[in-house]
Amino acid sequence: MTASSAYSENLAKAKALDFQTRAYIGGKFVDSVSGKTFDSISPITGKALASVAECDEADVDRAVEAARKAFDSGVWRNMAPARRKALMLKWADLMEKHAHELALLDVLDMGKPIKDAYGADLPSTITCFRWFAEAIDKVYDEICPSDPGRIVLVMREPLGVVACIIPWNFPLMMMAWKVAPALIAGNSVILKPAEQSPLSALRIAELAAEAGIPEGVFNVVPGFGPTAGQALGRHPDVDCIAFTGSTEVGKLFLKYSAESNMKAVNLECGGKSPHIILDDANIDAAATSAAWAVFYNQGEVCSAGTRLLVDASVKDRVLDKVKSVAESIVVGDPLDPDTQMGAIVDQTQLDRVLGYIEVGKEAGARLVCGGERSRRDSGGYFVKPTIFDGVDPSMRIAREEIFGPVLSTLTIKGADDAVRVANDTIYGLYAAVWTTDINKAFKVVRGVRAGAVNVNTYSGGDITTPFGGFKQSGFGRDKSLHALEKYTALKASCIVLA
Ligand code: ADP
Ligand code: MG
Repeated sequence: MTASSAYSENLAKAKALDFQTRAYIGGKFVDSVSGKTFDSISPITGKALASVAECDEADVDRAVEAARKAFDSGVWRNMAPARRKALMLKWADLMEKHAHELALLDVLDMGKPIKDAYGADLPSTITCFRWFAEAIDKVYDEICPSDPGRIVLVMREPLGVVACIIPWNFPLMMMAWKVAPALIAGNSVILKPAEQSPLSALRIAELAAEAGIPEGVFNVVPGFGPTAGQALGRHPDVDCIAFTGSTEVGKLFLKYSAESNMKAVNLECGGKSPHIILDDANIDAAATSAAWAVFYNQGEVCSAGTRLLVDASVKDRVLDKVKSVAESIVVGDPLDPDTQMGAIVDQTQLDRVLGYIEVGKEAGARLVCGGERSRRDSGGYFVKPTIFDGVDPSMRIAREEIFGPVLSTLTIKGADDAVRVANDTIYGLYAAVWTTDINKAFKVVRGVRAGAVNVNTYSGGDITTPFGGFKQSGFGRDKSLHALEKYTALKASCIVLA
């Protein structure tokens, strides 16, 4: 099939999509209690795609009641592990069967290229469900090396009702990272997708029903943060929050918890991740990586490499190459399979990104390329890949998360200086260093305070690798078996023979 016929097929399929727009509570699709709806807008055109049920406190109450009832009944946590695994795998199979449709939903709703949605997000989502499903009957509990006269068991138990509040940048992947481990641990789950991208989560709910996930075990409440999100955060019968989003909102969840029932809170928040290139690096590979680490997904990635820390002696060579990659990136209609960078999620985010570009210029940073909107005629929110050079560590574009395709270049001298500048941030989510010297690599890996520090690659980790932050990037880990720590509590039982 030629690219252009794949493009027309995507356009035709997108047009023919039938959206699920109602909340999914207790195994049924329902309107919001208030009857209110909100428009889900496509950033590709700036036009509404669908009116979606606008859940608030009353709907959250119903969802928590359904989730609690399912949990207390034991229908899920006491189901034979092999049976639970089979249902999760069936759900994953249905996601695979409808992978193209699910990818289109995210493309339309939040503007990422179909190439990435279908080629990366969907396979990752499905793998995540399968990987955790397979863990159900493979994770063992413990016996403590305690006094030989007794047996001390350590059992992992589900927490109860887990609320997952997720962002719009990877709607399906973020859903999978939270929902799959929370469910395999035996919890009931309430998912609140971001208001910018609710459609794929509701389709996932249809597939849950089709797979036979028991009612009340998985619920979806679309709605806004300050209403539906806050109601989950403050609900006295929610046991655990799993959140991905901004540091600002992450802090609110700590407050909600403190002011309600002290529910467990797990936060995966912002970043200002350093991408370090030392003087002995493979410059071509490093610079190409530096470009994609920030321009992938329109820069809307919490772990994006937004600070390029490059050794003064190689800076010009690196920057020339990063610029040439940036200028080669095809910004286009996300439904076109040739498109490499799509639309910014909404008008608010577009204004924020353009605002930061002005802030950078006013502070005296040098604009190397980009710096403006593109494809304005489409009505969509597109921005050109943007690079700043001469960025001082004190500038706002070196310190604040922009969440858009904007790279800030800072100059460093050697590995120690790189570590010092890398750590000069409130965040600590992700980092990478390019060097062919193992000593320097090790120094950076040990020295940088972040949840991941990769060497000669930016994104290293698949589902087996934990993901999460140090400092104000949050705490708790997604992916890998470590994710289960968030969704379980350990129960000890000391058994003495009578
Ligand atoms: P971003 O800035 O990337 O959009 P947010 O942190 O604002 O990230 O949003 C992430 C998630 O948090 C979304 O599901 C959003 O609805 C929710 N959210 C936003 N504001 C609040 C709030 N005040 N209380 C609870 N949840 C919120
Ligand atoms: Mg949208």
